[in-house]
Amino acid sequence: MENDSPAKITFADLNLDERLLRAIAAKGYTAPSPIQAQCIPYLLEGRDVLGTAQTGTGKTAAFALPILQLLLRHPRRMPRNCVRALILTPTRELAAQIHRSFLEYGAHTGVHCAVVYGGVGFQPQINALQKGVDVLIATPGRLIDLGERGCLNLDSLAVFVLDEADRMLDMGFQPAVQRIVNEIPEVRQSLLFSATMPSTVRGLAESFLHDPVNVAVAGESATADNIAQQVWHVEGAHKKQLLLHILQEHHTEGLVMVFMRMKHAASKIADFLKKNGIQAEAIHGNKSQNARERALSAFRSGKARVLVATDVASRGIDVKGIELVINYDMPNEAEAYVHRIGRTARAGASGKALSFVEHENRNMLRSIERLISQTIPVQKDHPFSPSKHIPAPPSFQRDSADSRPRSPNRPKTGWQFRKRRSA
Ligand code: AMP
Repeated sequence: MENDSPAKITFADLNLDERLLRAIAAKGYTAPSPIQAQCIPYLLEGRDVLGTAQTGTGKTAAFALPILQLLLRHPRRMPRNCVRALILTPTRELAAQIHRSFLEYGAHTGVHCAVVYGGVGFQPQINALQKGVDVLIATPGRLIDLGERGCLNLDSLAVFVLDEADRMLDMGFQPAVQRIVNEIPEVRQSLLFSATMPSTVRGLAESFLHDPVNVAVAGESATADNIAQQVWHVEGAHKKQLLLHILQEHHTEGLVMVFMRMKHAASKIADFLKKNGIQAEAIHGNKSQNARERALSAFRSGKARVLVATDVASRGIDVKGIELVINYDMPNEAEAYVHRIGRTARAGASGKALSFVEHENRNMLRSIERLISQTIPVQKDHPFSPSKHIPAPPSFQRDSADSRPRSPNRPKTGWQFRKRRSA
């Protein structure tokens, strides 16, 4: 990752514990990323932080390292069911990923970390909590369930982190987050991190923080500079063929993420690609947690070259080597675009993002361009561009998610399908 912070400081300059420096060296990091260089000193001073940074810029270490350092500085054995630092995150995959990062950064520290999320059995999580936990990473629903079962005591909590805060404070999660905040001590250190921070949630975010320092790296809602973005205009009935064409002719190697709006359509597209000789997996909220993890690990290991996902996977998931993101369906919200394309070009690598834009998506495209303050170049000449009027073979029309008959009441924008919690 490039270190473009003005002072060119090192991790040792941040006064991090030698046990953490060893783990950082083992990860191969040579210098703190800008968000790390800016956040870590404030967090070590005990300040609250409101952090805004692009995806893939090292946000996790920006909070994990100082939390581990603070726990090392004030060692305390946690009693049964008690927790010292809580990280709340919207998806199970992200919770598991942050847990892995804590285990790596804390490998030489003896700090006790645990993760709890829904979709898997309670008992192992209850057992982990019974031992007392220094750092707990959790999704809100399961945390509340465990609290209601009397397996969790948040009275000793000293540090509270809300990751992906904009998503956590929107209508879907906000009541659960508020309930959890009501349970934790008022005197605490709080950190809020997000790639995007719309003004609608900023006020609420600030109500959780005490005299916060604002740390913003790059412009809010900016997309990573090293992602080459393109718009491909196409009619809905031709999107499948266009996808196959791109994967077979243009982008024949490297990992690809394809984003779709509908869960069942994501599975269908993955099957369609497999039938055409491209190893693909689907990940979405209708799959069991085990199936989601299997799909992700097949993708991570390169066994599946393509991961077809709904927005459940658009945030935070860090898989090395994703070279291309395809927005097969445009997102329902401009901010989701930033999160989706942020799956590529992570940690200083470069990447590409292509968006399939149907006539009815033009307003969304304009909103996205306003949000990122850029006009996305259009790929003019391709075999499926609307001007070429290629009729789709009947088989494509029959089972394509895009050619389902339209209900006369269904609005053109597709908003009625927004079910953010189960995406
Ligand atoms: P995050 O934004 O926390 O998901 O991190 C994105 C990626 O950057 C992960 O693969 C990290 O391992 C990597 N990373 C985090 N900090 C650094 C650093 N200081 N130098 C190089 N890579 C880093």
